[in-house]
Amino acid sequence: MGRFTDKIVIVTGGTRGIGKACAELFAQEGAQVAICGRDATTAAEAAQAIGPNVKGYGCDISDSAAVDAFIGDVSKDLGAPWALVNNAGITRDGLLMRLKDEQWHEVIKTNLDSIFYLCRATARGMLKQRQGRIINMSSIIGIRGQAGQSNYAAAKAGIIGFSKAYAQEVASRNITVNVIAPGFIETDMTAALGENAMESIVEKVPMKRAGQAMEVAHAVAYLASEEAGYITGTVLSIDGGLGI
Ligand code: NDP
Repeated sequence: MGRFTDKIVIVTGGTRGIGKACAELFAQEGAQVAICGRDATTAAEAAQAIGPNVKGYGCDISDSAAVDAFIGDVSKDLGAPWALVNNAGITRDGLLMRLKDEQWHEVIKTNLDSIFYLCRATARGMLKQRQGRIINMSSIIGIRGQAGQSNYAAAKAGIIGFSKAYAQEVASRNITVNVIAPGFIETDMTAALGENAMESIVEKVPMKRAGQAMEVAHAVAYLASEEAGYITGTVLSIDGGLGI
């Protein structure tokens, strides 16, 4: 018996990185897990590799209708979710002066609009159950900004305001809404920066190392657990001290 036995958990972007680590941990602890990625086959293969109680779905979370269909399918296949982990996200970096409209909109749609779509699509089920856990993935960049990431910083800061507002709307129904703000975590997203950039960021981290996806997953699992029932509207930094 694990903390999530008989519970249904949705993790967006569970095909790789932090989302995959979350899905692995929830599955180990007994949950029925639904993950999604943009491609259905990739998501199904990733789910199969994680374990038998994980199901993969194709869903572009930046598309409102696709999100409604995804949540409808999960509800039919597994039932109403206990927890929703809004993890999927992208970067399209560039200095503001040269930033293209598409780079701005793609990041806002994928990283921020999606969270509204997913929370709205799961709201009825959670409200009916009078319980639920929502964990939204922000970033240290949403708190202190970063040159070359105005689009990403805007989306990640937006997630914090959104979560604090929604937390107040659903608190009386025992639904908690919290935010995780990772610092520098080793995944495909940060590998794309290249070795030199990674080394110079690590140098600035008080703990002098990058974080691991599973270190974020453990905090996500705690906030998704029954034990975290009185924590809502918070922002938990997981950054080795980078944001101090
Ligand atoms: P990765 O790039 O490793 O993985 C991103 C995941 O998001 C993939 O599973 C990808 O699935 C999915 N995804 C991307 N776009 C979409 C979309 N439109 N629809 C559905 N799924 C999508 O990222 P990380 O694991 O590093 O990051 C996870 C989250 O943590 C992100 O929100 C990121 O901003 C945040 N974060 C990460 C930090 C880090 O240092 N790594 C630091 C701070 C925050 P697929 O490709 O299969 O579609």
